[in-house]
Amino acid sequence: MSECTHDCSTCGENCGERTEPQSFLKDHNPAARVGKVYGVVSGKGGVGKSMVTSQLAVLARRAGRQVGILDADVTGPSIPKAFGVHRRAMADERGMLPVETETGIQLISVNLLLDDETDPVIWRGPVIGGVVTQFWTDVIWDVDYLFVDMPPGTGDVALSVFQSIPLDGIVIVASPQELVSMVVEKAVKMAEMMNVPIVGVVENMSYILCPDCGKEIPLFGQGKTQAAADAHHLPLLARMPIDPALAQLTDAGRIEDIQGQWLTPVIEAILQ
Ligand code: ADP
Repeated sequence: MSECTHDCSTCGENCGERTEPQSFLKDHNPAARVGKVYGVVSGKGGVGKSMVTSQLAVLARRAGRQVGILDADVTGPSIPKAFGVHRRAMADERGMLPVETETGIQLISVNLLLDDETDPVIWRGPVIGGVVTQFWTDVIWDVDYLFVDMPPGTGDVALSVFQSIPLDGIVIVASPQELVSMVVEKAVKMAEMMNVPIVGVVENMSYILCPDCGKEIPLFGQGKTQAAADAHHLPLLARMPIDPALAQLTDAGRIEDIQGQWLTPVIEAILQ
């Protein structure tokens, strides 16, 4: 243990004399400019968290903001592919430089650092947590809004992101079944314990549109998710259908061409 300076605000030790709770929040790169930071979370993988992160970034960019995406979903990074970005991220003496998409969205992802983007990331939790923290501390962001595609669930990597990156709010993505069974409840509680405000919930894969008559077909019954969100005081801001065109856009790396406006209420809540 180093010699006590009696200044708990600058000290990392957790001794019995600590008078202030210890913060693990890290500063961003001194050469970076970062306005607001929003995390996109889910209870588990595969519910469309990266899809929502990408769309929010696209909508914020269309609204004229400087936007970045920090892909913290290190073991399932899908952001660069959705934007059709396959270049390697570079660095200079000040830090790491994000890669820009066609419309000028700044991206950083482990996929932009690997020799081969199909290589699996076979690292243990603390290493992954360290990489994500470096995406915050080392990257030279120049953004009004940074969206963080969070690791799914509430494991140690999600915890280290919550602890080290100062989030201004989170958006929760859930499928209808997850909302009703409140699989996302742990993520909600984690945000509350970290004092991070919840912007609201996006229900993904809520319904399909009949290709012949355009009728909405709710796949998991109607009304239950609103009731579940209400019961937990979570604003249900958007419902997004399963839309084959969406999957095609991400597969083709053309998410910036998206026409759907489902997430407009979410981006309005964030930009206001
Ligand atoms: P997560 O980030 O939660 O793991 P993704 O955003 O990567 O999930 O989505 C998983 C897969 O489902 C992707 O191939 C994505 O293109 C597709 N997908 C997500 N949401 C929709 C949707 N509403 N309609 C069609 N495909 C979707």
